[in-house]
Amino acid sequence: MTQKKQEDKKVKTAKIIDGKEVSKALKDKIKKEVAEIIDKGEDGPHLAAVIVGNDPASETYVKSKEKAAHSVGMMSSVYRYPENTSEEELLKVIDFLNEDPDIDGFIVQLPLPGHIDENKIIERISPAKDVDGFHPVNVGKMAIGQPGFLPATPAGILELLKYYNIDTEGKNCVVLGRSNIVGSPMSILMSKKGYPGNSTVTLCHSKTENLKEITKNADILIVAIGKPGFVTEDMVKDGAVVIDVGIHRVEDKESPKGYKLVGDVDFENVKKKASYITPVPGGVGPMTIASLLNNTLKAYKKEYYK
Ligand code: NAP
Repeated sequence: MTQKKQEDKKVKTAKIIDGKEVSKALKDKIKKEVAEIIDKGEDGPHLAAVIVGNDPASETYVKSKEKAAHSVGMMSSVYRYPENTSEEELLKVIDFLNEDPDIDGFIVQLPLPGHIDENKIIERISPAKDVDGFHPVNVGKMAIGQPGFLPATPAGILELLKYYNIDTEGKNCVVLGRSNIVGSPMSILMSKKGYPGNSTVTLCHSKTENLKEITKNADILIVAIGKPGFVTEDMVKDGAVVIDVGIHRVEDKESPKGYKLVGDVDFENVKKKASYITPVPGGVGPMTIASLLNNTLKAYKKEYYK
C-alpha cells in the first residue's frame, strides 16, 4: 500500500481527557498535604455531608464523597435525617455545623424534599464552610473574580483544561446548559481574565435558536444539558475540545448490569472530529469529588475566609 493510501486509512480520533488520571493526581497532592498537617499534630480537614430522605442516587453520591475523603486521610461525617424533616429542623442542623469548630466544610446533598426551600438552606450555610460553592457570597465572589469556593464540577473542568494545557485564550467557548451548578458558573469562569479563561463565551439553553450554528463555531464546547447523546458530530467543529458533563444510565442488554453510562455527547462519533474529548464515565465525573476535597482542604487552611 502506498504511503498516501495508508494515511487515508488512518482514522482520526480525539485525545481522550482522562479524568481518572487527573483526579488521582489532584487527590495525591491533597493526600500529601493532609498527611503533612496530621504529622504536625493537627487533626486535619473534616468534611461533613447532610442528607435528607432516602433518594438512592443521593445516598450513592454521599457514600462516594465519604470514601474519597477517607482515601486522602480526611475525616468525614454524614448527618442523616428522615424525609419528613422540617425546614426549621434542617436550618438548626446548618446552624450547628456552622458553629462546630471541628467541621471545616460541609455540603447539603441536593435535591432536598419538596417541602424544603433549597435556596433558604444554601443561604444559611456559612460561606466559609460552603465547600460546594453554592452560597450567593461564593457565587458573587466567583462572578467578580475574587477568591472563594468554586462549585466542584466547574472547578474540576478547569483542572482538566490545565492538566492538558488546552489553550483557552481568545477561543470561542460555547456552554450548553445554564444550571446554577454547572453551565452558568462555567460560562463565567471561562470568560474571566487569566488561564483557563480569556475565552469568548456563548451560553446556550433550551430557548436558544439555531443551536447547531452556534455549537459549530465552538473551539471549546462544554455540554451540561442532561440529554443522552444530544450533541452529534454535525454540531461540532473540526478539532474542537469537547467536555461532556452529562451522565445517564441507558439500557444495555449486553452489559451484565443491564445498563451503561453515557453522556450528553454522542462520544463514538464526536471523538472522530474533536481534538480532545472527555469520556463518560471517566471524564468530568471523577473531577467533581476531587474538587470538593480540594475545597475542604482550602476551608481547613482558611485560605479565603480568616
Ligand atoms: P440541568 O439542571 O439538568 O439543566 C439542563 C440545562 O440544559 C438547562 O439550562 C436547560 O435549559 C438546558 N437544555 C435542556 N434542553 C436543551 C436543549 N434542547 N437545547 C439547549 N439547552 C437545553 O443541568 P445540570 O444540573 O447542569 O446537569 C446537566 C447534566 O450534567 C445532567 O446529566 C447531570 O446528571 C450531569 N451532571 C454531572 C455532574 C458530574 O459530576 N459529572 C455534575 C452535575 C451534573 P433551560 O434553562 O432553558 O431549561
